[in-house]
Amino acid sequence: MITLSSYLRDTWHRGQDPQTLLYDPTLYTALAQTSTRGLDLAGALQHGRTIGGPTLRAMTFAQRGELLDQLSKAIHGARDALIDVSRQNMGTTRSDAKFDIDGAAGTLAFYANLGKTLGDRTFLLDGEAVRFSRSARFLGQHILTPRVGIAIHINAFNFPAWNLCEKLATAFLAGMPVLAKPGTATAWLSVKIVELWLEQNLLPPGVLQLLVGSAGDVLDHVGPQDAIVFTGSGATGQEIRKHTQVIAHNVPVNVEADSLNALVLAPDVTEGSDLFHMAVAEIVREMTQKAGQKCTAIRRIFVPHEQADALKAELLARLGDIRIGDPAHDGIQLGPLAGPAQQRDVQAGVAELAKHAENVFAGRAPETGCFVGPQLFWNHAGLHAEYVHDHEVFGPVATVMPYDGSADLAVQLVARGGGSLATSVYSDDAAWSQTVLLGIAPWTGRVYWASSKVFDQGVGHGAVMPSLVHGGPGKAGGGEELGGERGLRFYWMRTAVQGDVQLLKAVLG
Ligand code: NAP
Repeated sequence: MITLSSYLRDTWHRGQDPQTLLYDPTLYTALAQTSTRGLDLAGALQHGRTIGGPTLRAMTFAQRGELLDQLSKAIHGARDALIDVSRQNMGTTRSDAKFDIDGAAGTLAFYANLGKTLGDRTFLLDGEAVRFSRSARFLGQHILTPRVGIAIHINAFNFPAWNLCEKLATAFLAGMPVLAKPGTATAWLSVKIVELWLEQNLLPPGVLQLLVGSAGDVLDHVGPQDAIVFTGSGATGQEIRKHTQVIAHNVPVNVEADSLNALVLAPDVTEGSDLFHMAVAEIVREMTQKAGQKCTAIRRIFVPHEQADALKAELLARLGDIRIGDPAHDGIQLGPLAGPAQQRDVQAGVAELAKHAENVFAGRAPETGCFVGPQLFWNHAGLHAEYVHDHEVFGPVATVMPYDGSADLAVQLVARGGGSLATSVYSDDAAWSQTVLLGIAPWTGRVYWASSKVFDQGVGHGAVMPSLVHGGPGKAGGGEELGGERGLRFYWMRTAVQGDVQLLKAVLG
């Protein structure tokens, strides 16, 4: 069996026994093991702060962008080998593996380009100089400089490539070194990517460390210039926010957590229309892509009463056609969940959901391996529904909830999820959509508005674009990542500098 190590202080370190197992979820066999016991995590954080940080801060944005470009190209060049690792360690179909791996390379490439645009500077001005007194000579200027600590990235298991790279891209471009901790269950792909970068000699000393296994005592050693970016469950996010050292040093924490994302069909989207078919296809894709293990996946579907029967008929037909099985075989659309723990969680969630909603479709799954067939639920309780609006079942699971088609109720239903990452709205009716879009905006990080003229041009509800923000309020964690230059701001200090306009110009440019 493979034993994975952590890359700390520029060398690989193996943790002490006992080890945690990583599985091949298709075969339900142990694939690798890892441990972080006994590793010097205080030393690792300090290494990043003292070796990696100064190196990155001395580089211009263009040079940091060049580094990201090389990291992106390395991933692209090893695409097939990485897809194979993803299939083995996560049970992904080829297309699901590409979603993760191409997304990783694409996000790095996007930030590489942004680096080129930001050019030969090492810090940025924020806005124009501000006059605050009678004197036109003594002015104020806001500047943005990288924090001089280390960025600690704690990731979920579902995107071992993309999650590593989307966070690293913004931190590196902002000028901060990173200690990344992938979700243990699928960490092998993250290890492979870092090995690849090291083989090609792309990483300057100290800029990137990889902690493979439990987070151990890493948070006990955070300091006032560090930053934490977390993706995972709301419960873990809260634990991190409440950590004594995090509180003591007011370490900024960005949380991306559970989200009960919705798709809302408007009354104008009639049965048989292109938009209607598009919505059906999108719901099925969201349920099955990556076996529903996507933070942005559609969990709640609000359909006007008039269209509910037609939607049910179409969904049942489409879900019945889904081919589930070993992702190594051609034509398989739905592989297993990422591991035994994930399978147990989803099975428990499905059992609980079944107490509160009717299970109208339960896909048959292979008996060996960590499979769960697609599960479609139906619930008529609207705003009063229990469990459906509150608990995310992180697998191929969604619930349809018929409603009266009013824009106001649509807003309330979306909001009932307590804050989401992404909401899809299907409508050509501008007045209805205006009420819904503006009403749900405070409750959702991204709105995917599908209408007849563009329904076939979008990238789909679940795709996170580096140029747009990713995050959501409330239950979704209250965080924000990506969004072009906005994604760098988390790693910067904004300082107001007051002084002589001529000297400010000479020093700040
Ligand atoms: P999780 O159990 O919360 O774990 C997330 C990460 O936190 C893992 O790396 C985990 O390590 C680590 N962790 C666990 N306890 C910790 C602690 N006390 N201190 C520091 N780190 C700790 O979540 P998951 O099961 O990996 O992911 C599924 C959840 O993530 C779902 O609820 C999903 O909604 C959410 N998610 C959200 C987004 C988003 O962008 N909003 C994206 C993806 C997933 P180990 O793996 O070693 O336990």
